[in-house]
Amino acid sequence: MSASTITDLSKCCVHTITTKPWKIEEAARQFSKMGVKGITVWRDTLHERDIIKTGQMLRDNNLQIVSLARGGFFPDGRPEGRRLAIEENIRAIDEAAALGAPHVVLVCGAVPGQSLIESRKQIRDGIMALLDHASATGVKLAIEPLHPMYADQRSAINTLEQANDMAEEINSPLIGVAIDVYHLWWDPHLEKEIARCGKNNHLFAFHICDWKTPTVDFLNDRGLMGEGCIPLKEIREWVEKAGFRGFNEVEIFSDKYWAGDQSQFLKQIKNAYLNYT
Ligand code: ZN
Repeated sequence: MSASTITDLSKCCVHTITTKPWKIEEAARQFSKMGVKGITVWRDTLHERDIIKTGQMLRDNNLQIVSLARGGFFPDGRPEGRRLAIEENIRAIDEAAALGAPHVVLVCGAVPGQSLIESRKQIRDGIMALLDHASATGVKLAIEPLHPMYADQRSAINTLEQANDMAEEINSPLIGVAIDVYHLWWDPHLEKEIARCGKNNHLFAFHICDWKTPTVDFLNDRGLMGEGCIPLKEIREWVEKAGFRGFNEVEIFSDKYWAGDQSQFLKQIKNAYLNYT
């Protein structure tokens, strides 16, 4: 089976952080005008806003709210730190519920000097502690594995296999995974693990961008689709074959693009989405 050809923007979602210089109201207007159909909201854009009204504003712009980014950061050497992390995640779940976002994406966290095994245990315990609140609000949680270069302080979950293992161990319909091609494109087990999470109904989200050569900054130098070496069409084919019918979420952190004209950048996103995804 080959992936369906993308001919329109009906499954195109853009993360608010992709056009970081824009306030959420401006992003909503511009995304909508461009024909983008989905938006993933980063929590910083909700600062000092009425979240219920903001959700309505997005829907009024014909945007489907795809997810809230982000929760996580569970590991901490001190029990008090872990307790505070859970409180922060409960706030994130409440924000997702108020906004009308079906799930919160989890960047799970890590602590330099603490073993990755211990951090993964703390991540699992943290997610387990959120299950009741997730259930009460109906908000799901998506474990996003991060590239191993972030294993020091951003995430001890670095492969889709580890995320799948954890989702299966927790075994709740509220817990799944988010696949981000930037973090996972290199993994020799990727195709197999995508099929695995699809089969278990754990595949909640799909994030796209590209890996540039050379990459000059390992956080904020992501490329537009087609600008780098990620076999994006092939990975999208695997994701669709696994049964995923959700949005392709354009998530680009880029000092270079943020410094430029965002309207121009959004046009480039549309072009890259239609031609290279
Ligand atoms: Zn992502």
